[in-house]
Amino acid sequence: MKYIILSVFISFSICSFSQTPIENGLSVINRYNAETYIGVLASDSLQGRKAGQIGGVKAAQYIESVLMNMGLKPWRGKYEQSFTPDIFIGTANANTKLKNILAYIPGRNTDEIVMIGAHYDHLGIGSPMGNDSIYNGADDNASGVSAILQIAKAFLASGQKPARTVVFALWDGEEMGLLGSTYFVENHFSYIPIPLTSAIPILGYINCDMIGRNKDGDGSHVSAFYSEAKPIFGQWIKSDIKKYDLALSPDFPSLGSSPGGSDHMPFMDKGVPVIFYNTDLHADYHRLSDEADKINYEKVVDITKLAFLNLWNMANLDTF
Ligand SMILES: [Zn+2]
Repeated sequence: MKYIILSVFISFSICSFSQTPIENGLSVINRYNAETYIGVLASDSLQGRKAGQIGGVKAAQYIESVLMNMGLKPWRGKYEQSFTPDIFIGTANANTKLKNILAYIPGRNTDEIVMIGAHYDHLGIGSPMGNDSIYNGADDNASGVSAILQIAKAFLASGQKPARTVVFALWDGEEMGLLGSTYFVENHFSYIPIPLTSAIPILGYINCDMIGRNKDGDGSHVSAFYSEAKPIFGQWIKSDIKKYDLALSPDFPSLGSSPGGSDHMPFMDKGVPVIFYNTDLHADYHRLSDEADKINYEKVVDITKLAFLNLWNMANLDTF
């Protein structure tokens, strides 16, 4: 009898009834997961994750296995969206395929989707400097990939089915010129489902590219770019930083001034409202020295939480 009472007590205290779905989601976003995902992706064994090469393929397999183990569904029946970019056709790499990894959580309404993404490819192997030749790309962009994986987990942990379908994307070929995201967008908007209707509208896209470094020693700085047509995105960002006590002081530069461009651009070109998180260029940008031990993990976690909250709004608010 004593035993039964005790076990009832334990099961009640484990599932805390006071937590909202958002709090349930936030509770699974943590430093341990960020370190794990970034640690694997930026390890030497993935050889700099160059698009179309063995390290890139291994990275894709790892990401796919994480999403599958979480229980996310493959988008349109397959986690991998393979394609041969134009720049490979007619070259020695003619057989090389690049692959985006795409998974989703169906919404109550599947006629509208919202998306979040980050590129997982990087620069591969370079000429040796000292005893190093691998572009680990810990900030660029294992940091962004870790955010997408944690946010997928958070949506599942919320225990609430989103109002709209949420698609999680890990892009290939970004470093070669936004190849993966461009392919996805072109394919999406030209895809004609049967019965004949137009492509499913994408109501918003969030991009994370290089979210793990400090700026001039400032550990809280983040550049939060967003579409001018959606000033409400800026309001969400400011109010959620306050409400959830995130250690972030965002800059809001205009999207036109974003450094070098990233995978939000093909979406912008189709009129999809976007948010883009980035912690600015730094001395290790596109160098062999972009390594995992230089990442500010607490900051990656807080930007991940903020992007989760933004995506939650996109997925669940009636209008925005
Ligand atoms: Zn890069």
